[in-house]
Amino acid sequence: MSNQPAHLPARPNRATTPELQFVAPGVWALRNVFVNLFFVRQAPSTGPWVLVDAGLPGAAGKIRQTAEALFGPAARPAAILMTHGHFDHAGALETLAAHWDVPVYAHPLELPYLTGRSAYPPPDPTVGGGALAWLSGLYPKHPYNVGNRAHELPADGTVPELPDWRWIFTPGHTPGHVAFFRESDGVLLAGDAFVTTQQESSLAVWEQRQEVHGPPKYFTCDWDAARRSVERLARLQPRVAATGHGIPMRGQALLQELTELAQHFQELAVPAQGRYLPDPAIADETGVRAVPPPVRNPRTPWLLGGLAATIGLGIGIWLKQRDGARKRYKHRGRNRRHHFDQPATGYAADIDPFTPVDETGDWFPGPQHL
Ligand SMILES: [Zn+2]
Ligand SMILES: [Zn+2]
Repeated sequence: MSNQPAHLPARPNRATTPELQFVAPGVWALRNVFVNLFFVRQAPSTGPWVLVDAGLPGAAGKIRQTAEALFGPAARPAAILMTHGHFDHAGALETLAAHWDVPVYAHPLELPYLTGRSAYPPPDPTVGGGALAWLSGLYPKHPYNVGNRAHELPADGTVPELPDWRWIFTPGHTPGHVAFFRESDGVLLAGDAFVTTQQESSLAVWEQRQEVHGPPKYFTCDWDAARRSVERLARLQPRVAATGHGIPMRGQALLQELTELAQHFQELAVPAQGRYLPDPAIADETGVRAVPPPVRNPRTPWLLGGLAATIGLGIGIWLKQRDGARKRYKHRGRNRRHHFDQPATGYAADIDPFTPVDETGDWFPGPQHL
């Protein structure tokens, strides 16, 4: 959607951003292969912290390690908050909730998928194009079950443990999707209501090309609701948006592209046809009640090609991470420019998390920059 003017520096990409990124005071993003999760601490720096979303299956160790790097040995959150329960956001949820023995909060319409009561509406592999979309039919669909650790987010919009934040109902991508917003400085954790990379394209995901896009198409089961959710988020005029996929965005580029997405959602985000068009999936507090019939997948012959591309992508990411880990090891002690490059090796709690650490001092662009 964006055309980067030639005179501006290139936007950040996978190669130029660390896995653990400082997003805003008290907010860190951890990239888990192709999905993001967040650590959010309530001020002051001794305040409670929560985990927002729980990454891919198998990510529990890495998430705990990162929490300890940020908050100290045996760090344990006060709660886990879920934007929604797709497998790439809830993969390590059961393990972490049990290990930490903490409550898990989600919208009442999302709880069926976190308490084993219902599977999500089936993904629509005919929309979006790209290998990741074609393969969406193979993604795990079983509901997670955190049992009686699951709780409803408070109906009044407040967020447990984080009095500075409120939750915003943003259904469409899933029936009970929510975003989290800190009004005082305009920080938005948008989940998959919109994302900052083109999630259906394996190349864009690999590069983490930074631009505002609608929700990942293959999982979105109510396009009308998804449009209204993006409009709602655009009206908040966020200054920083950290989403489920892609590198966080801020300032003018974010506002412009998010406004454009809200105004032209139909053209920019909604597929021309698909299983959930024109009719959405119907769901309630018990889970999915009705889904439209599947549509024939015109791309089936390409599925094998998609599979090959995705395996290639996986190997590429693995090699890159292995390479990156080696490099980090080699440069340990010399490359200290960014504290959070080395979450596993440095205990960062001695750095006041409420002081912007970026040397440009531009974490929170004033109105003159917006
Ligand atoms: Zn999702
Ligand atoms: Zn996602």
